Amino acid sequence: MVKTFEDLIKDVHEKGLCGECGGCVSFCSAGDIGAIMMPESGPPIYKDKENCKECGFCYYVCPQTHVLNDLLNDKFEYTPPIGNWRFITSSSATSKEIAKKATDGGVVTSVLNYLLDSSLIDGAIVCKKQGPFNRVPFLATSKEDLIQAAGSYYDLSKQVIGLEKYNTFIPTNTKLKDLIDSDLLNIAIVGTPCQIHSIRKMQQLSIIPAHIVKYTLGLFCNLNFSFNDEDRKKMEEKFNFKFNKLEKMNIRDDIIISIKDIGQKHFSFSEVDEFVRPACKACSDFSNVYADLSFGGLGSQENNTTTIIRTEIGAEIYNEALKKGYIKETYRFAPLDVNDNLIKKIITFSQQKMERAKNF
Ligand SMILES: Cc1cc2nc3c(=O)[nH]c(=O)nc-3n(C[C@H](O)[C@H](O)[C@H](O)COP(=O)(O)OP(=O)(O)OC[C@H]3O[C@@H](n4cnc5c(N)ncnc54)[C@H](O)[C@@H]3O)c2cc1C
Ligand code: SF4
Ligand code: SF4
Ligand code: SF4
Repeated sequence: MVKTFEDLIKDVHEKGLCGECGGCVSFCSAGDIGAIMMPESGPPIYKDKENCKECGFCYYVCPQTHVLNDLLNDKFEYTPPIGNWRFITSSSATSKEIAKKATDGGVVTSVLNYLLDSSLIDGAIVCKKQGPFNRVPFLATSKEDLIQAAGSYYDLSKQVIGLEKYNTFIPTNTKLKDLIDSDLLNIAIVGTPCQIHSIRKMQQLSIIPAHIVKYTLGLFCNLNFSFNDEDRKKMEEKFNFKFNKLEKMNIRDDIIISIKDIGQKHFSFSEVDEFVRPACKACSDFSNVYADLSFGGLGSQENNTTTIIRTEIGAEIYNEALKKGYIKETYRFAPLDVNDNLIKKIITFSQQKMERAKNF
């Protein structure tokens, strides 16, 4: 029997597993069915139940249902714990403007910049700071847009209504549905593993709006946070800093925050456990195994990005960006170098995340 949104509520929402990625809503709203919607806060809800065609696509594309994982594992030649890969590199942006704004080495922004300059894409779905503590997904169509989007921040989500809610997760997939009617046909998307899983499932099912996604740039992801104002105060007390002094946040081997006039502070993942979104604790993919390219800071020196080159098109665009001088490389490892420390770290973090999901 076809599973529907009712089953998604039962199997995902009611178990506290919805990561609010917006994947299910992207299909239903891009297809003009309009049966479900993202509310201002929390998991998706019915917009008009009468419109539901019981097609089941919302259930199949949800990263938390895992129904298409065997197919995707075959297609992307997945082997645990870090998936298929051709090379792993450590590199950085050659553009000073990008390097200055970037989270790590600015390689994500540089590869996107190369794709735009070469007219391989018409735009990239990234997210930008819209004001203090407010970051939203948008379609970047120029280098300036990309630079505006570079970096990661500890942001207040858009779904703030009265109740302040801090969320480091940005539902970039929801932006896709806005592009369905445009004549922009080649898009790259930057996303966490759950977001890329959902896109790959849509592509596997040949459903809109994923057909316009030509390149998937995945980020490593150990966790995301979601907490209210009361938790924020708890956090300030526990870690002895003020949120209004927070300049930057990054996640690599641990959590690093930069505080105005004080400098950097490091916290371990276990110290922040109480502020982590429950959905993240059930998630087992650290290194974004279905992306064309996966990026993180883990294992690289400061101001460098670790990149896992996975697919043929991933290798093509990364190598071209390198050849054309958008990035410069410090290290490159092939599968034979599997004992290198950088690769060992990615393997360890991936195994730990799989173990955490199993225990959850
Ligand atoms: C929530 C989150 C958790 C992460 N966890 C880890 C981790 O545990 N270990 C690790 O090594 N690396 C982690 N990363 C990846 C790391 O922080 C860098 O994004 C990555 O190394 C790329 O760096 P860069 O300088 O090349 O990217 P940049 O050139 O700075 O580009 C970053 C791109 O990511 C987009 N972006 C920023 N925040 C988000 C978001 N919340 N959702 C979707 N897109 C976003 C930006 O719009 C920009 O396009 C995480 C990233 C995020 C966003
Ligand atoms: S129409 Fe299909 S995608 Fe939309 S809610 Fe119903 S089952 Fe889900
Ligand atoms: S697809 Fe995303 S938003 Fe929809 S139920 Fe699954 S996790 Fe939640
Ligand atoms: S840990 Fe990262 S990839 Fe997994 S559900 Fe949370 S935000 Fe998504």
